[in-house]
Amino acid sequence: MALRVKALESLMVEKGLVDPAALDALVDHFEHKVGPRNGARVVARAWSDPAYRTRLLADATVAIAELGYAGGQGEHVVAVENTPSVHNLVVCTLCSCYPWPVLGLPPVWYKSAPYRARAVIDPRGVIAEFGTDLPEDVEVRVWDSTAEIRYLVIPRRPAGTEGLDEAALAALVTRDGMIGTALL
Ligand code: FE
Repeated sequence: MALRVKALESLMVEKGLVDPAALDALVDHFEHKVGPRNGARVVARAWSDPAYRTRLLADATVAIAELGYAGGQGEHVVAVENTPSVHNLVVCTLCSCYPWPVLGLPPVWYKSAPYRARAVIDPRGVIAEFGTDLPEDVEVRVWDSTAEIRYLVIPRRPAGTEGLDEAALAALVTRDGMIGTALL
């Protein structure tokens, strides 16, 4: 696959159809500027600032843009918050819709048929396979992403983190925590 991509790229550059500098800029953007660190900053801000949390739950797209994150595949983001009694899990049963500006590109398993099917049929079982046995009394809510709406899970803030600043809090937030396949 890598060779085929390289061959296609060489041909398109040779024919003047794409600009190599533009390609490099795109790759740099997705490798260094877009990724789950962005979402982690959003979560850390929500944990630290109750007014921001309220804005995030009311309109995540606008609240996320406050931190400078916006763009394709993130035009309509909905934030869903884990609580002691509710756990949220995100899937795209149709394909692989995912909130790129805050989480970057989706992991391979997120796009796989087994995840897409089983997240809906047996979300608790899927989360267990990722290493977390949710207590029986916790309700699991599954959110099916679409081309229009993408979801971001706000994980529960870990105990004992009261003294941490936002940067230290953000370092605790994982990609899978923001998809809902893991706790923090
Ligand atoms: Fe999709």
